Amino acid sequence: MSRVAYVNGQYQPHGQATVHIEDRGFQFADGVYEVWAVFDGRLADYEGHMTRLGRSLSELRIPAPMTKEALTRVLRETIRRNRVRDGLVYLQITRGTARRDHAFPAEGTPPSVIVTAKNLNYPRSEAQAAKGVAVVTQPDIRWGRCDIKTVGLLPNVLAKQAAKERGAAEAWFVDETGLVTEGSSTNAWIVDQDGKLRTRDTQANILRGVTRAAVLDILASEGFELDERPFSVDEAKAAREAFYTSASGFVTPAISIDGAKIGDGKPGPVATRLRARYIEAARRDAI
Ligand code: PMP
Repeated sequence: MSRVAYVNGQYQPHGQATVHIEDRGFQFADGVYEVWAVFDGRLADYEGHMTRLGRSLSELRIPAPMTKEALTRVLRETIRRNRVRDGLVYLQITRGTARRDHAFPAEGTPPSVIVTAKNLNYPRSEAQAAKGVAVVTQPDIRWGRCDIKTVGLLPNVLAKQAAKERGAAEAWFVDETGLVTEGSSTNAWIVDQDGKLRTRDTQANILRGVTRAAVLDILASEGFELDERPFSVDEAKAAREAFYTSASGFVTPAISIDGAKIGDGKPGPVATRLRARYIEAARRDAI
C-alpha cells in the first residue's frame, strides 16, 4: 500500500511530497515537532503531546497554523489514509517559507505543516524490549532550551549514530558534572541500589517527555518509590536496572552502559512491568 503525507493542506503520495527550499525548517531548523504513538488507529497520550506542542510553538512565537480540532482531524486522516493500526504519527510545524533572512518573516507568513504516519513493527519492538538494549554515553553539547521540541536535532543525530557504531540502541547525554541528562531521543531512568526509581527532574535542560509523565502516573498508582533527581554514570552502572522512555519505544530496558553490565545483564522486573502497564494504559486511553 502506498504511503500518504499531509503537506500544507494537501494529501500527497509520500514519495512526491516536498516543501519549498526556503522553508525555514530546512534553512534554519526553525520549527517544532511531535510524535504520537498510535494504538488501534488511535492517538496515545493525546493531550500531553498537544499541550507540549502548544508550548513549543508559543516559546518560539510560531503562530498556531490551525485549531487543535482541525489539527486532530489531519492527524487522524493521515493515520487513516496510511492504514496505521499500531505505529507512529509525526507532525512538524515550521515558521513557514520566506526569502532567507535570519530574523522572523513578515507577520502573516503561514507556518508550514507536515504530517506523516507509519506502522511500527510491534513484534520487533517487543523482542528488543525482551532482550534489552545497550546504551553508550555522550557529552551533552546541546543548547540551553532542550525543553522546546525543535527540529534542530544535530547533536542528537550525532549521538545516536555514535551509539549505533558501538552496537548500542541509544546514547545517554552526560552534563559537565558527570550527571545523565536524557537520551538522544528518550528520557533516562534507573532503579537505584535502594530500589528507588530515579529520573532527572524537568527543571533541568531536558525535554519533558510525555511518556515520562505517563510512567510517573503509573508509579504513583503502583506504589513504586520515586526519587526525581539526576544520577551519575557510575550510579547507572551500579544500578539494579536501567531503562528509557519515549513515544516510539514506550519503556525500553537497558542492560549495559558503555559496555558495563547493569544488574544481571537482563531486563529487570521493574522496567518489564512498567512497559506492560504503560502499553496497556496508553492503548486503553488512546483516542
Ligand atoms: N528526550 C528527547 C531528546 C526526545 O527527543 C524525546 C522523544 N521525542 C524524549 C525525550 C521522549 O519524549 P516523549 O516521551 O514525549 O516521546
